[in-house]
Amino acid sequence: MHPDGERGETGQGFQPVRDGRGASILGPRNLPLERQNPDLLASPYTDSGTVPNLKFSFAAARNRLSKGGWAREVTTRELPVATAIAGVNMRLEPGAIRELHWHKEAEWQYMLVGSARVTAVDPQGRNFIADVHEGDLWYFPAGIPHSIQALQDGCEFLLVFDNGEFSENETFLLTDWLAHTPRDALAKNFGVPESAFAGLPTDLEHERYIFPGKVPGPIDADAVASPAGTAPLDYTYRLSAQPPIRVAGGQVRIADSTNFRVATTIAAALVEVEPGAMRELHWHPNADEWQYYISGNARMTVFASGGRARTFDYAAGDVGYVPFAMGHYVQNTGDGVLRFLEIFRSDRFADLSLRQWLGLVPPELVREHLDGAPDVIVALSTTRPIIVR
Ligand code: MN
Ligand code: MN
Repeated sequence: MHPDGERGETGQGFQPVRDGRGASILGPRNLPLERQNPDLLASPYTDSGTVPNLKFSFAAARNRLSKGGWAREVTTRELPVATAIAGVNMRLEPGAIRELHWHKEAEWQYMLVGSARVTAVDPQGRNFIADVHEGDLWYFPAGIPHSIQALQDGCEFLLVFDNGEFSENETFLLTDWLAHTPRDALAKNFGVPESAFAGLPTDLEHERYIFPGKVPGPIDADAVASPAGTAPLDYTYRLSAQPPIRVAGGQVRIADSTNFRVATTIAAALVEVEPGAMRELHWHPNADEWQYYISGNARMTVFASGGRARTFDYAAGDVGYVPFAMGHYVQNTGDGVLRFLEIFRSDRFADLSLRQWLGLVPPELVREHLDGAPDVIVALSTTRPIIVR
């Protein structure tokens, strides 16, 4: 049940009417979309001024289909405010391969379902191979070549890049490069006759990108011994194995460069909010926040200063965004557990809690500000609640 209960439901159905304001819709309408966005259809009276759009759903993104899987992206083209981070939702069938490639951006990943084998090689010639399972992360620094192959059950995952302009369609692909290099240069490079490349595609349209493959065997059989050794830092991180920070109303797991050392440009928190609970009012002092909703339903109001604020509703598969330093809360408005990722282009996770802030300055000073609200002053805290019930 939405916290505002029957708001919008009048004798005339679901209408932009609340608190004696508004009127029914007479013209064309998209009722399913309006039902997903009740706080846009009839915004709370506390919303005010001009705030950019802070929501885009993967369901509204173009899905690029290949044999063996698909990929869809939310970038600045879809969500213009999201300049810091771009996201890609990708699916691979059992054994399917995301082609060997690299790109200008660092890549962070959260495994939603299933498992995959990843490889990487660093500039010192040190290599890396690992299997990644549900709830686990990987991070490949900018320019590091890598591959992804689904294991026996297939997989679906979320990729995050540290630049909102990123495009999944413009990565540096192995077959694309080979198709755009003269055959005599390829022959010289690999020390084979030109005829050795006769079976390769020559047309850009035939790049592999995502393509079917054989499910790989045990990881030990796939490992290649490099004379330079293996990569010194683990490119993967078992977030699912991390003991969560448990609080009344939910739990949080944080992964940044303090525990996932290689991840120097992306920090993240996996937040789980129980029904009826809320991620507290807070802000982040270091970066924009890019959100991905994994399950449940949420409502967020973003306070943009200068009397401006806007409220949005989110469901599984949606992307949310909070520009740098803006205050916000995320409320569980559904019947189940709300799970979402808070992601930042930063080497560390950092936030400031409203309740803790006010609890750590002289009480008399707070009293001068909140004159007439003595119960609020009693409820302040010297520690951060993170999630409140
Ligand atoms: Mn990549
Ligand atoms: Mn936040």
